[in-house]
Amino acid sequence: MKKVIGLLILLITLSCAGISVFAAPEDVPDYIRVGISSGSVGSSYEASSSDGFAIYQYDGGDITQVESFEDITDIVIKADEEYINIYPVDEEDQPPVYSYNNTTKYFVGSTDMEEGIISVSGKSYRGGVMLYKSSASTIRFINVLDPEKYLYGVLPKEMSSSYPLEALKAQAVAARSFAMGNINRHSSLGYDICNTQCCQVYGGVSSEVAKCSSAVNETSGMVAYYAGKPVSCYYSANNGGYIESSKDIWGTEVGYLQTKKDEYNPEYNWTAEFTTEKLSSILKNAGYSIGTVTGINIKEKTEGGSVTSLEFVGTDGKAVIGKSKIRSMLGSSTVKSLKFTITKSSLSSEASPAKAYVKGVSGSATEKILSGMSVVDKNGNVVILAADSVVAQADTGKSTIQGSAASSGEDGVDGIVLSGKGYGHCIGMSQMGAKAMAEAGFSYDEILKYYYIGITIK
Ligand SMILES: [Zn+2]
Repeated sequence: MKKVIGLLILLITLSCAGISVFAAPEDVPDYIRVGISSGSVGSSYEASSSDGFAIYQYDGGDITQVESFEDITDIVIKADEEYINIYPVDEEDQPPVYSYNNTTKYFVGSTDMEEGIISVSGKSYRGGVMLYKSSASTIRFINVLDPEKYLYGVLPKEMSSSYPLEALKAQAVAARSFAMGNINRHSSLGYDICNTQCCQVYGGVSSEVAKCSSAVNETSGMVAYYAGKPVSCYYSANNGGYIESSKDIWGTEVGYLQTKKDEYNPEYNWTAEFTTEKLSSILKNAGYSIGTVTGINIKEKTEGGSVTSLEFVGTDGKAVIGKSKIRSMLGSSTVKSLKFTITKSSLSSEASPAKAYVKGVSGSATEKILSGMSVVDKNGNVVILAADSVVAQADTGKSTIQGSAASSGEDGVDGIVLSGKGYGHCIGMSQMGAKAMAEAGFSYDEILKYYYIGITIK
């Protein structure tokens, strides 16, 4: 009796939070097709499964076993011009034990589709592997499996397993929602979603971590919706303290991807240095023949602080780089976000460094660049003038000899330094923010609703 009451309380609690404990089966397909690699027609590929092999028929959602080879644990799969042929290993010279020519309908898997594991070319996957002929010479390897088991192989690749469970659960719902919203995304290649950053990184069985699998199980079937459709839960590692909107960064209005200040996102700072030479060659390689770069100007920023237009001035012209190209051109692992300022610049067109006239005992004054010089003050201390500006003290008071940013070149910077915050596009959920929220006691659904405006989770 105690157990029943406990369950009732749980049901009431969950329904009060606006969450159904039941999955929405019409939205979560039984199987998902994940592109894992490609190969060539005419090449042989080894596969193994300790439970033996079976051939399955796939009809959109349903799967039926059509043949099983329980005693054969190691096989060779080879596609010829017409058929996909299955041989026991070392028996390629014999007729195949199974052949089929409809490469979108049949696939091979362990005899146990629920728990079995199949290894192809040394990598292990749950479910089965479909070989789709996407051209006369190309074979696509596609992992066909239960979406929940797919998520086991996604979560540890997308968020650190050291993060708190509620943050991992938020990521699990985000990853599931993304997958459900992108069924058929790569249908021209025979699969729903791919295993790279283009969709979501998926590493199969070897990447699974028990804590992440628990986060998947504890949110089983839960999908985030907006206006009745699964939400593409975009996220980045850190948003620099302000969530960007899809409209400001990608130019497309998306109701649940709005801009607002993030109270939980922890500080994350970075700097990136580029020499004049490096900068000039980056611009040239990107197709902007503006000669040697002599200036850089931020032309436009979003409300959230992201640079959306950056101008480079060169000896042979100007180039204005838009938001979609800035990071890819400069290197997105170097320029970690668009939220940066130019903190140092010693490009040659900049104003001259601080100078002063120095009068020697002979009485003639010569112009000297202050930075890098040293002076002896009235107490005999040597002061190295390395800063951008120098305070000179006369009997009548202080005055400042102001250098320009250009004099920072004397600090060892020949080019520019960008100082930024945040990591990624800063749209949607901040993973570090989700971690901080989980540590502060927020639940996974509160975290998701904080980052995705107006969503429901069911
Ligand atoms: Zn993709």
